[in-house]
Amino acid sequence: MGFLETGVLTTEYLKEQGRYPSEERMKKGPVAVCECMQEIPCNPCESSCPFHAIAIGENISALPCVMEDKCTGCGTCVAACSGLATFVLNKSYSEEVGSVSFPYEYTHSYKVGDHVYGADRSGKKVCEAEIKRIVDIPKYDHTTVVTLEVPIKYVDEVRSIYREREIKEIPAQSDYIADDVLVCRCEEITAGEIRKAIAMGARDITGVKLRTRAGMGLCQGRTCEALVQAIIRQELHLDASESGFSTPRTPQRPVTFGTLAGGEENE
Ligand code: SF4
Ligand code: SF4
Repeated sequence: MGFLETGVLTTEYLKEQGRYPSEERMKKGPVAVCECMQEIPCNPCESSCPFHAIAIGENISALPCVMEDKCTGCGTCVAACSGLATFVLNKSYSEEVGSVSFPYEYTHSYKVGDHVYGADRSGKKVCEAEIKRIVDIPKYDHTTVVTLEVPIKYVDEVRSIYREREIKEIPAQSDYIADDVLVCRCEEITAGEIRKAIAMGARDITGVKLRTRAGMGLCQGRTCEALVQAIIRQELHLDASESGFSTPRTPQRPVTFGTLAGGEENE
């Protein structure tokens, strides 16, 4: 299955597309890779590179191309990429380990030397890793660039730090959410509508989503997921792990049916 079906890019696919740095180049030193696949008008990677090592060309919706001979691996494009899709890979300094630099926009208290787990493109834990560098400078405008050292075979897979998904506490009974309170603000779904969906058979986040559209709006559940989980657990007396999570899916931004049907982009 390709990434259009799974929603998760693979190194193999990027290589097939000629958009992955060569082994030879990665063994010479750090080099950028733009893992962005949506042809949208976007070019901060290209315009931020001080070495003109990324080309998008006249059509701003074209996919970026990294010229590996010009790239110094400085990492400026990692912080600049608005899609959090650019990384710097390095397999040059050891036979055993290499490094991956990536954008990290979560609140954190990591420091250099911390031992963490590397996560792959789907968010799964893949290996032990050590934080080698954290760059958080005004020029990067609130995007921290973290460099992880990982076993060399995982340089092509690790793209972030593994995070346990946080399971929020069920609000106490005194925090009971009244039926007329809007829980999903994007789709304007109230707590009462969520309870009705549960009464109709929904048993987890996905069941509620299918019946009400809660979590299908612009924020993709970032705002309402914890509250929907809490209501499910309250109504069904479930353990914290049983109310489920929503599945993030591409596209990450709304597109028109015309675009999906092959019409003009972004009309
Ligand atoms: S890592 Fe630096 S040199 Fe390489 S493409 Fe990014 S900004 Fe340009
Ligand atoms: S800035 Fe990021 S998302 Fe935008 S074109 Fe460049 S690599 Fe793609």
